[in-house]
Amino acid sequence: MCEKFLIINAGSSSLKFSLYDMPVAKEIVNGYIEKIGNQDSFYTLKYNGQKQEKNRVIMNHTEAVKVMLEELLENQFISDISDIKGIGHRVLHGGEFYSESVIIDDEVLNNIKSLTKLGPLHHPGEIAGIESMQSIMPEVPQIAVFDTAFHQTMPKENYMYAVPYSWYEENGVRKYGFHGTSHKYITETMKNYFNKDNVNLIICHIGSGASMCCVKDGKCYDTTMGLTPLDGLVMGTRSGNIDSSIIEYICKERNMSVEEVTSELNKRSGLLGIAGKNDFRDVENLANSGNEKAQLAIKMLKNSIAKYIAQYYVELDGKVDAIVFTAGIGENAVSLRASIVNSLSSALNIELDQEANNSIARFKEKQSGMITTEDSKIKVMVIPTNEEYMILKDTYDMANKKIEKSSKVKNLEYK
Ligand code: AMP
Repeated sequence: MCEKFLIINAGSSSLKFSLYDMPVAKEIVNGYIEKIGNQDSFYTLKYNGQKQEKNRVIMNHTEAVKVMLEELLENQFISDISDIKGIGHRVLHGGEFYSESVIIDDEVLNNIKSLTKLGPLHHPGEIAGIESMQSIMPEVPQIAVFDTAFHQTMPKENYMYAVPYSWYEENGVRKYGFHGTSHKYITETMKNYFNKDNVNLIICHIGSGASMCCVKDGKCYDTTMGLTPLDGLVMGTRSGNIDSSIIEYICKERNMSVEEVTSELNKRSGLLGIAGKNDFRDVENLANSGNEKAQLAIKMLKNSIAKYIAQYYVELDGKVDAIVFTAGIGENAVSLRASIVNSLSSALNIELDQEANNSIARFKEKQSGMITTEDSKIKVMVIPTNEEYMILKDTYDMANKKIEKSSKVKNLEYK
């Protein structure tokens, strides 16, 4: 018999949701509520190949949850809210509390609340989503799946910053890392592929947000994002790592506040800052038409990725089972992948299979596979990420553990 599970991903002014039939992991409907808190808020529902857009003023996340449930009932995706057997919430920050997903109880919710200072944009919406669902459906297990959890295995020398130790002890300043659900999905996929648990991987999650993960013996050993998702690689609108003195310097030079400069580093830097466009396809089109700033932006992105691959290669002592590209740019940007692999070719003894690389992208018939030749010392692969699947899997497994404490947890079937 099919049971329904709901996945909720609340942003600062948005709420995405998907309803699944389990255990077959079939998506029934997904929705995206945008501009929460504005007079022009609206939402989109997608099901059965159809798309519906509706305008409705939704002032906060509690109202957004009510609208979501109304739509699920009115369209008969559920006949009663009791059809929903488990709810998974994507939560940005698990701090040092959580190295895996957890069932949300009072203590967990308090811990998530205490981490709002580390996720000020995301946590208020996420907490409102959790509390609204708890008040409407108190009996249904709710599971928090953290973006930071996978990275909790990093050794201390890799997650500490060389700043006064009290900043760590009293203010929680350390590297946490993000995109953990994606890095975990790729790691699990690679464990299956190589049929061993102790895989060594360099994972390049390159989307509009981008981060890399060094996986040693099947666990996160290092990652590029830090206290916040601003650190590391050049991204769509984020700067990646910079000399932190730039902040004070620009505050003084341009008469800006720290908040304004931080906002520019998050929202108007990266590809957008250099090339004037944040979408990689637009930057690539500009570069192909001869725009020098766009060409520069792509070279900077390429170099930032190549440098971390070289660093992680050394951290793994040269024993790398695979370098994996994933997310929007990693899965599709054929020429960027080629230039990264070619730039590392003689240093790391890797050899691009140009034809294989050209044949893999979301819009082509192949979406995954190897892009290096048989002679290449390290395999380079493209694997589509699936964070939603990971959230669903944890939610289903943990909700069933709670519902059927004594019985065996069912195995989730792949789509
Ligand atoms: P994500 O955040 O994972 O959804 O990735 C978004 C990024 O993927 C954007 O910068 C897109 O431009 C990029 N992207 C999507 N499709 C392509 C494509 N066909 N070629 C190059 N980049 C792409």
